[in-house]
Amino acid sequence: MRLFLAINFDAQTKEHILAVQGRLREAGRGSFSHPENLHLTLAFLGEVEPRREAAAREALDSTAVPPMKLIFDHAGRFRREGGDIWWLGLGTNKALITLQKELSAHLQGKGFILENRRFSPHITLARQVLLHKALDESQLLGIPFGTEADTVSLMLSERVNGKLTYTQRHAVRGKR
Ligand code: ATP
Ligand code: MG
Repeated sequence: MRLFLAINFDAQTKEHILAVQGRLREAGRGSFSHPENLHLTLAFLGEVEPRREAAAREALDSTAVPPMKLIFDHAGRFRREGGDIWWLGLGTNKALITLQKELSAHLQGKGFILENRRFSPHITLARQVLLHKALDESQLLGIPFGTEADTVSLMLSERVNGKLTYTQRHAVRGKR
């Protein structure tokens, strides 16, 4: 089973994200993230044995999840042959970085192998994007916006009838 850990968003935040995605749609074509799939990845486990899921839950359970204010304040793209990946980026956030580090350490403590490239918090808006008109990155973002996050979820990623589907398997909510 393919697993990852992520922060999911409430309906209002998704509306904000979708407004940004809408401006991207007007400027290009590509494979746009479905509203139900919008999320912020904290750790990617990849393919794991089903019996190892419990270990992932335990790593999450042992992680302190503080309530955090997340600010979406920049947008950008990763250049790719055949179409770019466009994303929405989060402003510097110490609590989020600490959370991601602690979670990663607990997962590694349980034997999961993680990529050790630097955490750059972003939400993928679309992949394989080819623009048909110029689109400036700051123009795409519009006015920065924020959201409160207090929950980290263990997510299952699978193809269901050809559709990329994410399902929450477990969640830990921080106390206010
Ligand atoms: P697909 O791969 O089918 O296009 P996806 O990338 O959204 O869809 P997954 O590959 O299951 O789905 O990835 C789940 C999440 O983990 C996504 O946010 C993805 O960007 C992230 N992710 C995938 N691979 C890695 C990786 N090697 N390192 C870090 N994060 C990753
Ligand atoms: Mg992928």
